[in-house]
Amino acid sequence: MRWRQAGITLVNARVIGEAGRVASTVRVRGDRVDGLDVAPARDDLVVDLDGAVVTPGLVNAHDHLELNSFPRLKWRERYDNAGEWIADFQPRFTRDPCLAPANPETLEDRLWVGGLKNLLSGVTTVCHHNPLHRSLRRPFPVRVVRNYRISHSLLIDGPQVAESYRRTPSEWPWIIHAAEGVDGAAAREIELLDQLGCLGANTVLVHGVAICAERGRQLASRGVSLIWCPTSNAFLFAACADVRAFDDAGRLALGSDSRLSGEGDLLDEVRAAAATHQVSAEGVVRMVTSGAADVLRLTGAGRLRARALADLAVIRPLANDAYDTIAGACRTDVTLVMVGGQAALAAPELADVFTHLGVERTEVMVDGQPRVMARWLARRARRLRLAEPGLEVAAC
Ligand SMILES: [Zn+2]
Repeated sequence: MRWRQAGITLVNARVIGEAGRVASTVRVRGDRVDGLDVAPARDDLVVDLDGAVVTPGLVNAHDHLELNSFPRLKWRERYDNAGEWIADFQPRFTRDPCLAPANPETLEDRLWVGGLKNLLSGVTTVCHHNPLHRSLRRPFPVRVVRNYRISHSLLIDGPQVAESYRRTPSEWPWIIHAAEGVDGAAAREIELLDQLGCLGANTVLVHGVAICAERGRQLASRGVSLIWCPTSNAFLFAACADVRAFDDAGRLALGSDSRLSGEGDLLDEVRAAAATHQVSAEGVVRMVTSGAADVLRLTGAGRLRARALADLAVIRPLANDAYDTIAGACRTDVTLVMVGGQAALAAPELADVFTHLGVERTEVMVDGQPRVMARWLARRARRLRLAEPGLEVAAC
């Protein structure tokens, strides 16, 4: 096949490499990265990015893909713990008109809305906190993590979480919502998980708002990881997790959560995380690339290096510093997304990438900006009964 032979070299770029290295070129051949700071081969498509930033495809460590077709919902100004929100939410699930699309017939389409939401923000891998529906094992806008186990929370699953943890292979992450709130009940969940023997080196806590700095250091030293969802926490609890101990230990990832509580997409979380100044811009980028890959035990994601899968996103230059550019970006700043060396989304000026790869494309609009999208994705997006807000697809 032609595309397996034809390389693409992105030049005049700022490429996020490993260990803080920023390269000026990256070459993609087939589904892999050929190298950083390498010269184009003779038949390559050479794309001058004029200072744009190339990041490893972003890793969204926490989403509920099927719950992105709803508005943010709460029924009190501020909650003290997630149990209060769940108690408000559950009786309304079948009655609230805002939640009317949440019926089983729309599940597959809603999962796709979640996939498109992630792709448009430069995400190429997402960890879905719910069972892996069959449509997530078929061609989908982004990669979905397969090797992991979840519990919802102690609030929903109770002490049965211990059995879930025990059955999780030690090399897979075990992921659970925990300490989601600001009161003693939220904080006590950590002690309960400890008593149940659920705090080990493959334990990944989501939220952790009620974890104090000292407890954070103890947990991080035991290898426990944290997935931070800052806009969800601000919305429900008007509070922010103290993530510094997990960042220092390299045990921190970032997640968007669903739009039921989160602001929108992973880039919204990136900007919110940077605004707390708990973590440097480079640290924020690490949370959505290599750090997330480490937390989720992903060997093929989050890093651009020779022979890695060519999952990448290009972000137009917004600041002198490459990390500041990513930390300040929103999805209209994303000008190219490739998944496994295949073009998925591009700004019109980068549409040659589709031509070179032989990928059929369709013109779309994203938040009022023209983009081209792989036709197979655009066709599916157009058929969905629920639309991804801001994505307009003409007939294709
Ligand atoms: Zn969640």
